[in-house]
Amino acid sequence: MHLSVDVLVIGSGGAGMYAALQAQRDGASVLLVDRSLIGRGGATVMAQMTVAAAVGGACPDHWEHHYRDTLRAGRGLCEPALARIVCEQGPECIEEMDGWGVGWARKDGRYAQVMAPGHDRARCVYVDFLNTGPAVSQTLRTRLVRTPEIRRVGELAVTDLVVRDGECVGAVALHLDSGETVTLAARATVIATGGLTRLYRRNSGPANNGGDGYALALRAGAELIDMEFVQFFPIGHLAPRLIGMDPIMWDPFRYKLGGRLLNADMEEFTDRYGAPEDGRYVITRDLATYAITKEVEAGRGSPHGGAWLSFQHLSEATLREAFGPVIDRLARNGIDLTKTAVEVAPIAHYHMGGIAVDATMRTSLPGLYAAGEAVGGSNGANRLSGNAITEAFVFGRLAGASAARAANAARAAGKSGTPWPGDGPEPQWLNRRGGRPAHNCAALIVELQSVMADGVGPFRTRAGLLEAIERIESIRAAIGETPPGGVSSFDPELLDWLDLRQMTVVARCVAQAALERTESRGAHQREDYAGLDENWRVHLSVRHGPEGPAISRRAVGEEAKA
Ligand SMILES: Cc1cc2nc3c(=O)[nH]c(=O)nc-3n(C[C@H](O)[C@H](O)[C@H](O)COP(=O)(O)OP(=O)(O)OC[C@H]3O[C@@H](n4cnc5c(N)ncnc54)[C@H](O)[C@@H]3O)c2cc1C
Repeated sequence: MHLSVDVLVIGSGGAGMYAALQAQRDGASVLLVDRSLIGRGGATVMAQMTVAAAVGGACPDHWEHHYRDTLRAGRGLCEPALARIVCEQGPECIEEMDGWGVGWARKDGRYAQVMAPGHDRARCVYVDFLNTGPAVSQTLRTRLVRTPEIRRVGELAVTDLVVRDGECVGAVALHLDSGETVTLAARATVIATGGLTRLYRRNSGPANNGGDGYALALRAGAELIDMEFVQFFPIGHLAPRLIGMDPIMWDPFRYKLGGRLLNADMEEFTDRYGAPEDGRYVITRDLATYAITKEVEAGRGSPHGGAWLSFQHLSEATLREAFGPVIDRLARNGIDLTKTAVEVAPIAHYHMGGIAVDATMRTSLPGLYAAGEAVGGSNGANRLSGNAITEAFVFGRLAGASAARAANAARAAGKSGTPWPGDGPEPQWLNRRGGRPAHNCAALIVELQSVMADGVGPFRTRAGLLEAIERIESIRAAIGETPPGGVSSFDPELLDWLDLRQMTVVARCVAQAALERTESRGAHQREDYAGLDENWRVHLSVRHGPEGPAISRRAVGEEAKA
């Protein structure tokens, strides 16, 4: 099957849906595709908490204050122009989403806003108890349904971009249901495929965030930056089993109620690592990750390899007053916080790095744009809480507008139709499938996740990174170059092979960049290079090379005058 369109948007999280809506508003024909169901497959629908924007609902605010906080959190590595766009345009998107009926919580008729770590004031809007991401996704899905001109195709996994004469002219995809190869010609393509947390054994994201967009862009010739910066969230839920709830939900609990972080001996332990808590929540994320990791290494972890988080000293009335319906949802999972502590541990949560873009979301490859978590640079070495959904809205809207403008200009200049096929990967390459795979790719994905968790996790060493790179390469060599299987409907072995092909490329980029950066900054902590080194206030830029990722240094942009 072959489809042709002005603007192709790959990925339908917050960024992709916003991009599609904007491109259509700006006069382009739009195709929105997703490897999952439209608007239901990414991190956006899972996020349950807050969205940062200087709308001044709770107290006077201005985007410049938000911008300063964002730069500070990024530890000197934010691309100022990108960070500025997020902070300056965030409030417009919050207003627009409000007009579309998202239902931001209100107090006395104004937006209710809460504090979150790293912000200098209450700046984060939300919908209600742990329902922000689902409400955001539903609102954008409803807009899409009311815009039938936007063509939507789910269960379509994009495997490669197609390049002709140095320009991206579309993509190749696998239709998961039928097993058919689909070619997609587009005047402009937007990558909005989210992050890469699936590379890690324990992660907070969906299975669809395996870093596909980074691999697509890199293979096609685009530049990636800051790939070494993976954000770990220290108190991700570990046990008992919790279904249908945000694994990072203990953060708002700790903000409101304190809670006690305990080791196997049921003792508070963070004071050993320079951060006494005494039931309050004062420890920073990096220090909490360090303290829990070291306590587990010392044999004082909780039964599943983390720490206990206890609210047992609080009454049910206090818990209910703070978290109402969430207490019932916990009860349905068999958790009564007045009687039991839960286990928590660091969890891969977000990726600061990604595809390099300019201030219009254009990548270094003509015809290709990026949006949302797929973009690198706006958050530098560490992301401020609540900035990711704002970034998805703002970058999505901007990428949709830029892609539509380019497509409209091409049409106006009389370019007849989209040039096709390209000279990148041969569009039909996916049809060349051979036999059964020699290896169990699902098992290899699990192995890769362990390699990343053990060697490229929150704390890194040269020896650990070198070992990880060797093992990533051996997994890559094991799967070979030819996809397995014939054309058949839903083929999980083929999908695992395709996922592993992308995941190994991205894993290698993260590990290689982490090896090169011999300092500790933000989310990148080298046990053998403690502390921040001012000489390292540069981005690491990654290009596709014949022997793996080609890494070079790139200066950080000038700080925008606020
Ligand atoms: C549990 C959790 C809680 C969070 N809480 C918050 C919060 O409170 N506040 C905040 O600001 N941020 C939060 N974040 C981060 C934030 O949700 C994400 O950074 C943001 O939603 C990313 O949006 P996106 O549109 O870029 O990507 P996503 O929403 O991840 O969407 C990407 C889409 O691309 C699709 N896709 C991927 N690969 C392909 C392919 N090859 N072909 C076709 N489609 C593809 C996926 O199926 C998915 O639908 C949270 C994240 C998680 C996981």
